[in-house]
Amino acid sequence: MALMLTSVPGTNDVFAQSKEYPFREPVFRYITQTAEQVLRSSGAQMIHTPVFEYAEVLQKGVGVTSDIVVKKEMYTFEDRGGRVLGLRPEPTASIVRAYNQHGMKVWPQPVRLFTWGPIFRAERHQKGRYKQFHQVDYEALGSADPLIDAEAIALMVQVYRALGLKGLEVKLGSVGDPEDRVRYNDYLRGLFRPYAQELSEDSRVRLESNPMRILDSKSEADQRIVAEAGVRPMLEFLGPEARGFHEKVAGYLEKLGVPFTLDPSIVRGLDYYVRTAWEVHHSRIGAKSALGGGGRYDGLSEMLGGPRVPGVGWGIGIERVAIALEQEGVEIPADPVPDLYLVPLDEGAKLEALQIAQRLRPAFRVEMAYAPKSARKGLEDALKRGARFVGLLGEAERARGVVTLKHLETGDQREVSWEALGEALGPVPGVRL
Ligand code: AMP
Repeated sequence: MALMLTSVPGTNDVFAQSKEYPFREPVFRYITQTAEQVLRSSGAQMIHTPVFEYAEVLQKGVGVTSDIVVKKEMYTFEDRGGRVLGLRPEPTASIVRAYNQHGMKVWPQPVRLFTWGPIFRAERHQKGRYKQFHQVDYEALGSADPLIDAEAIALMVQVYRALGLKGLEVKLGSVGDPEDRVRYNDYLRGLFRPYAQELSEDSRVRLESNPMRILDSKSEADQRIVAEAGVRPMLEFLGPEARGFHEKVAGYLEKLGVPFTLDPSIVRGLDYYVRTAWEVHHSRIGAKSALGGGGRYDGLSEMLGGPRVPGVGWGIGIERVAIALEQEGVEIPADPVPDLYLVPLDEGAKLEALQIAQRLRPAFRVEMAYAPKSARKGLEDALKRGARFVGLLGEAERARGVVTLKHLETGDQREVSWEALGEALGPVPGVRL
């Protein structure tokens, strides 16, 4: 027998009974539906972009000095036409590409879009870090007003709150304007050069290309050096405009009642961020594993060959949020029970049972036994599924065009004609078609 083929380590199947937490479909659904509800209530529109793009779009999107490019974390491949393509390592570049491609610049601004779906990074997998993971993502394009940054952060916090999460910390920083970063990077080069030999290999490269990235290095040796060197925070290097912008965002958040702490050390892993940058951490899942993060990226559109389009947005890691929900003991709503479980009592009743089920769906949740069963076994199965009603369909019922309908909670039983079944099952909660 051939060896049973399996999924690639670091990728996961998401289904209700999965033994691998957090890959449970009801949890994913709870997170994405809650996020969708919050974001739609704000007027943001959903967008789906392809999971693969020209590698150039994605590389420019994350920046050539980012870990994703430097450490070759992006899956790239050549298709039969010789095109170099990549699987998206984050959704922002694709959304900005779509904004430009479809001329959204002439729409009323800002254009506010959200999406959710799989993200791919060739990282070494471990708990909370996967090769394929999922994000909810929100982007507001076409406005450079700090109010839009505050709204983005407030909406992100609203999503976490609507999910029932409590132990959150929003860490707000600013990465300044490009010229502020040039000054800060010069300062950091001077500061870290004496330590060059002790830095990790990656950080030695970063020392020249993007020394800010040394600050959020995952290497312990680097972190020791960062602590020892007495680094002055980026916030001290902001020019007057970036500083004023940062103060406005912070002031708006206070007025909106969104709690946050100022974190002068925040540096986002992606190159194209300017000014506002933030991360959301959770008390129980450790400082290194953010639940989400976001920032402003006014230069990205131009890098993709488009017009200047200021933008701000965020991504929430669905798996990380699911882990936080479990650690806080948040109860995930159970799937609704079937309204009716139909049981064909003989072979000849199978098709009729399916016809009845199809007539009642989708107004009602109707499941059926696919092989004939005894009434006793059918009842047992209906109870196991938590159904409200069981419907028995045998030869006698068929002859009269009825179903023997039993309410499982009260035990009430009566014959109901096929036409009257909907009425007998209803009224049911929720929106019905
Ligand atoms: P980033 O685009 O790196 O800022 O990631 C945004 C969010 O996605 C993070 O805050 C995490 O919650 C989540 N995330 C990033 N990388 C991974 C990964 N490899 N596996 C699972 N979640 C991730």
